[in-house]
Amino acid sequence: MPIKRIGVTGGIGTGKTTVCDILRQLGCEIFSADLVAKRLQETDDDIIAGIKEIFGEAIYEDGVPNRKRIADIVFRDEEKLKRLNALVHPKVFRAFEEAARRAEAAGKAVIAKEAAILFESGGEKGLDAVIVVASDLNKRIERLKARGLSDAEIRARMSRQLPQEELLKRADVVIWNDGSLEALEAETQRALDVALARIGRNA
Ligand code: ATP
Repeated sequence: MPIKRIGVTGGIGTGKTTVCDILRQLGCEIFSADLVAKRLQETDDDIIAGIKEIFGEAIYEDGVPNRKRIADIVFRDEEKLKRLNALVHPKVFRAFEEAARRAEAAGKAVIAKEAAILFESGGEKGLDAVIVVASDLNKRIERLKARGLSDAEIRARMSRQLPQEELLKRADVVIWNDGSLEALEAETQRALDVALARIGRNA
């Protein structure tokens, strides 16, 4: 049986990472597109050279790019954002395909790709189904503030993602995360079952 590829996305503070932790406990392989993108920016020679070309040599300090400055620059400069994405996204895409092949060889039935910007980066291509994690805006703000983000940071990050209503339209399955962690566990199991049934019907 070929491994099933499922995307997990949602706005910041909706609970994507928590859903993926639950999926891992359910036996799924987890691939975090955001973590892999971050790692590639520190280890991949082509990406490092490209980032220095776009943002200048000084953007790296001790082999680590100044992410806050890059975020501030690309927020106001769409051209630079496009160049950065063109550099990073194809390699993240390939890394996911490699991870899927490895997971399949290891006998896993499902690999979940977690990405804060999935549709925005074309990362839904090649996936069998996409789960969108959604949550009430006030709950999201509460969770993000508990993590130390300011109102301005929350607004800036949200403005870089598709609005929740748009994500809901594109979802194959939605997980609403407005209750307890126990409720989220049950919802995640249900969403996985629905996604797999749907993939089975489309196969
Ligand atoms: P980001 O995009 O910012 O990484 P995220 O969508 O991945 O956010 P999480 O990191 O999973 O969100 O969740 C945000 C915070 O809210 C975490 O501290 C998590 O433990 C907490 N949280 C998520 N869902 C629940 C829940 N149902 N009950 C209690 N706490 C929750």
